[in-house]
Amino acid sequence: MISCRYVIVGAGFAGASTACHLARRGAREIVLLEQEKVAGVHSSGRNASMIRQVVSEPALIRLTKEGASFLRSLPADWPVPVSFQRSGSLLLGSGEGWNRLQREAETARQAGIEVEIWSRERARDCAPVLKDADFEGAVWCPTDGVVDIHALLSGYLKAATSLGVQVRYGCSVQGVQVENGRAVGVVTSDGLIRAEVVVNAAGPWAGAVAEMAGAVVAPLRPCRRHLFITAPLSWVDPGWPFVWDDAHGLYFRPDSGGLLLCPCDQEEMAPGIPPTDNRIAELLAEKIRQRFPAISDVAIRKSWAGLRTLSPDGRFVIGWDPKISGFFWVAGLGGHGVTTSPSVGRLAAALILDPGDKSGEPFSPGRFLR
Ligand SMILES: Cc1cc2nc3c(=O)[nH]c(=O)nc-3n(C[C@H](O)[C@H](O)[C@H](O)COP(=O)(O)OP(=O)(O)OC[C@H]3O[C@@H](n4cnc5c(N)ncnc54)[C@H](O)[C@@H]3O)c2cc1C
Repeated sequence: MISCRYVIVGAGFAGASTACHLARRGAREIVLLEQEKVAGVHSSGRNASMIRQVVSEPALIRLTKEGASFLRSLPADWPVPVSFQRSGSLLLGSGEGWNRLQREAETARQAGIEVEIWSRERARDCAPVLKDADFEGAVWCPTDGVVDIHALLSGYLKAATSLGVQVRYGCSVQGVQVENGRAVGVVTSDGLIRAEVVVNAAGPWAGAVAEMAGAVVAPLRPCRRHLFITAPLSWVDPGWPFVWDDAHGLYFRPDSGGLLLCPCDQEEMAPGIPPTDNRIAELLAEKIRQRFPAISDVAIRKSWAGLRTLSPDGRFVIGWDPKISGFFWVAGLGGHGVTTSPSVGRLAAALILDPGDKSGEPFSPGRFLR
């Protein structure tokens, strides 16, 4: 049997960043458990790598801002170089969606994020591929960009292990031990691990891990989303920003000499690696034909799908469980877990180590207690 102070379930961005920040704050005896043989097999290795700060849920804005500024200038002692391409983003709006997007941009501006409202013409000058696209205006966020997600995840893990965090791969948590209403350890495929704090960073499995503990039922929904990569395209400028048509659910950005495209599909699935569905390729083709005719003749070279774990109110689930003491949540990061990984890990570590810290209230799992 192993004993430690903190056992963290899941080595995706949520668990790896929490382990890293706990260790950087001076916490010791941390064990990070990952059921797969390597990190990044699930959502954290299957996403679009975009750092987007203007988001619809106001409580997330301070986390996106903090996350993006951390990624733009990593600490001097960061153990792994992480490329961040500061391409900026263009969020396109039309109809009622354009009014909403402008309100979101204003909230972001008040939070200190650099944003500008651009006319359609200005957006088209920046990304000529939008010449036939129909939209009313765009929000330009120059400090957004694209990050190397594999280097970023390995940076959290390396920073954590260099400070003594023990990472155990191929170790699956099968039960949470609870004594007198307090989590005291986990039952794993490698045996029992006793701990003072159990951190649930299990991504799409967070609901299952919480159930093992008898913790609050957070209605999290793992939802599938597909991504597509085209063959190289001579007319794509690798310096273009990422373009997101919020109202119609479609985004694209330069990738591998061509484009990465997403039709923003959303279908609830069981945790695991979701199968791809050919009908979504048809959905993508239809959306492109309607919204961006200039890119309708592209050949798809590769596609895959991943899970975004969504909460009903769009807010993350970070904090102490209201039913089981010693059980801490870092879950429900939805479609923002890369952007916010630095701030989520920092916030989780602060809430674990500073009992009086109230800054996580909007994310408290207590909101699901009935
Ligand atoms: C298609 C797509 C595009 C996206 N694009 C972006 C983007 O551009 N920008 C952005 O910010 N975000 C994006 N996201 C969201 C982002 O990928 C997620 O929010 C983030 O990766 C979630 O990290 P996580 O650590 O919570 O989950 P995960 O990465 O799934 O990690 C959870 C880990 O827990 C492990 N685990 C689970 N149960 C157990 C157990 N019982 N025992 C041991 N280990 C266990 C799993 O194996 C897994 O490795 C996107 C997501 C998808 C699917």
